Amino acid sequence: MTERLTGHTLLISLIATPIRHSMSPTMHNEAFAKLGLDYAYLAFEVGNKELKDTIQGIRALGIRGSNVSMPNKQAIIPYLDEVSPEATLIGAVNTVTNVDGKGHLVGYNTDGIGAMEALKDEGVEVKGQIITLTGAGGAGTAIAIQAAFDGAKELRIFNIHDTVYSNAEETVRKINENTECKATITDLADQEAFKTSISESSIYIDATGVGMKPLEDTSLINDPTVIRPDLVVFDVVYSPRETKLLKFAKENGAKKAINGLGMMLYQGAAAFKLFTGEDMPVDYIKDLLF
Ligand code: NAD
Repeated sequence: MTERLTGHTLLISLIATPIRHSMSPTMHNEAFAKLGLDYAYLAFEVGNKELKDTIQGIRALGIRGSNVSMPNKQAIIPYLDEVSPEATLIGAVNTVTNVDGKGHLVGYNTDGIGAMEALKDEGVEVKGQIITLTGAGGAGTAIAIQAAFDGAKELRIFNIHDTVYSNAEETVRKINENTECKATITDLADQEAFKTSISESSIYIDATGVGMKPLEDTSLINDPTVIRPDLVVFDVVYSPRETKLLKFAKENGAKKAINGLGMMLYQGAAAFKLFTGEDMPVDYIKDLLF
């Protein structure tokens, strides 16, 4: 790494908290080294309180771009000069470019693209499909909007009746107004509707994070009759690699049980392209890190 850094090295940041667990710095730095690109990627512990100063710092130092994670994905939007159409619809930004290092900051969201690419990688096509989705927070919204733009026929979103519910209603409205996809939102408490929806879907996506600490022994599906040999089950969680949901799906013969690693890789690859203009060597990164 030290051999690579020069007086010309361009910096890409990652701003979030907590962030020390993230795989993104390793992934991007390995890809820069593999392609011989004179960039470095560093994580900074930044919350909403430090965000304004951080943005000033990015402009002042000519930091070339940044990934953005919680709690800053929505909070960063007012500080940007431009926001891409998909990030505007999603209402959240996970990637920022600083055009030519001159301080013009443009926000994008690559989470939805990452999820769609991860499915494609497993041979799963969303076009024309009925999808049941649990979770309509940051990840769920990005997935819902991208799946709708990629031609999903129906998106049936289920969410618990918490503060995110109104966001889910708004997402459904945006999808129905802007795409050909038919979207609905139902309270997850209606378990019969949830089971019926999965029985009519070819893909079930869990974007709630249930299955991750402290809920690692929890799954939103516990009825084996819900799992069919033609059902694809996708959980956005990648730590643990196999959540209770994915284990349950495998044991009961689902067509595929896919974890969130691919989504993480491909959202990073899409950001890498925005930062550098180059394709991330994804097969190399997969061999190295997965
Ligand atoms: P968020 O807080 O914005 O949304 C969480 C969603 O889960 C909401 O819809 C909420 O209503 C729902 N929820 C919370 N607790 C629940 C429960 N007990 N039962 C049912 N629903 C519940 O969070 P987010 O940013 O959308 O992240 C969600 C998960 O996605 C996290 O685990 C995160 O690590 C993961 N994620 C993965 C990737 C990836 O690249 N693989 C990218 C982004 C997020």
